[in-house]
Amino acid sequence: MFTEPDERVALREAVKKLAGKYGREYVEKQAREGGKMTEMWLEMGRNGFLGVNIAEQYGGGGGGMADLAAVLEESAAAGAPLLMMVVSPAICGSIISRCGTEEQKQRWLPGIADGTHLMAFGITEADAGSNSHQITTTATRDGDQWVLKGQKTFISGVDEAQSVLIVSRTEDAKTGKLKPALFVVPTDAEGFTRQPIPMSWQAPEKQFTLFLDDVRVPADALVGDEDGGLWQLFAGLNPERIMGGAFSCGMARYALDKAVEYAKERSVWKDQPIGAHQGIAHPLAKVKIELEQARLLWQKAAALYDAGDDFTAGEYANMAKYAGGEVACNATDVAVHTHGGNGLTQEYGLGNMLVAARLGRIAPVSREMILNFVAMHSLGLPKSY
Ligand SMILES: Cc1cc2nc3c(=O)[nH]c(=O)nc-3n(C[C@H](O)[C@H](O)[C@H](O)COP(=O)(O)OP(=O)(O)OC[C@H]3O[C@@H](n4cnc5c(N)ncnc54)[C@H](O)[C@@H]3O)c2cc1C
Repeated sequence: MFTEPDERVALREAVKKLAGKYGREYVEKQAREGGKMTEMWLEMGRNGFLGVNIAEQYGGGGGGMADLAAVLEESAAAGAPLLMMVVSPAICGSIISRCGTEEQKQRWLPGIADGTHLMAFGITEADAGSNSHQITTTATRDGDQWVLKGQKTFISGVDEAQSVLIVSRTEDAKTGKLKPALFVVPTDAEGFTRQPIPMSWQAPEKQFTLFLDDVRVPADALVGDEDGGLWQLFAGLNPERIMGGAFSCGMARYALDKAVEYAKERSVWKDQPIGAHQGIAHPLAKVKIELEQARLLWQKAAALYDAGDDFTAGEYANMAKYAGGEVACNATDVAVHTHGGNGLTQEYGLGNMLVAARLGRIAPVSREMILNFVAMHSLGLPKSY
């Protein structure tokens, strides 16, 4: 039988309590009024929840990705997901932990762990999209500095971040298969500007187009080797996918809980609640099964990542992200439907979740690109793109 260790069960309970204090109302209020999740974010940081995956000597909890993903799942299940956890501690924290120098770890990890330094992550470009091999943001060496030039799009949380980990290519590797060079760029650097993208999704976290016009950073802003290859990027992208899966599962749990509660209470035919009808009960039961499947997948992916099996972790992280995205879409759809007209009122807050759940099918890697990956790598089918 599969069970989580006692420490993780206790961690989940503690996060549930803290996140429950804020809940859906807090997130919606912040989104409506242009506020942020800062108060909750910093409280989570002070309690050690944001840095559970970071080594103790850098201010973290010394746990793994399975712990961090459990934190995110619980906060989302309580109605208060912290999107920036996918980015700051999971992607950036993991890359710096695995590829950074000792000095870089000391400089950035403690702030990432306690939440006082939020690091965004920028890989997506308008003309590259799902094909990251096509990115054109370029880093050119100039004495003991690097000069960055390019544009990024859909970068989350830049207005709240102190820095962004930018994925570029060096002048010497300007074309061909991506050899990523990763730089920590302060958000107040000269030549660094941002433009908000109006989104249909109402959330405190905003997305931005970034412009890097000859942004100069010191040599030690480069994390890892300029010629280190793709593994440096995947040190962060596998955690990103695991966290994406956990985020979606948490959202699905929230939607399912709300729907079940409503199905038990709402009664329009004599004294039977609507949940007595199989037309309502079966879709809810189906979502419950899909949800438990998706949770097992991210837990397996995280266990593999924490055990250092990056290759297999990659396969399962992709599948976990896929399964999470699907169940979040299905759960929010069923939850809205179970609520009838109320499902689309602002009071019940489920309509906006339909849009939020779609994110799990698109980002950080789309459903189709995962299917391409599984077809090719898990099944050995020919490459289709
Ligand atoms: C809310 C939000 C937050 C985000 N935050 C960040 C962030 O913080 N940092 C960051 O770097 N990026 C971020 N992204 C970007 C995200 O990772 C991209 O949107 C995603 O990778 C897809 O790229 P695209 O939007 O350019 O879609 P495209 O690549 O243009 O794809 C469009 C459609 O075509 C399909 N498609 C493309 N190629 C193929 C193929 N070969 N076979 C089959 N189908 C294909 C895709 O599946 C998709 O359905 C964010 C996006 C959103 C929506």
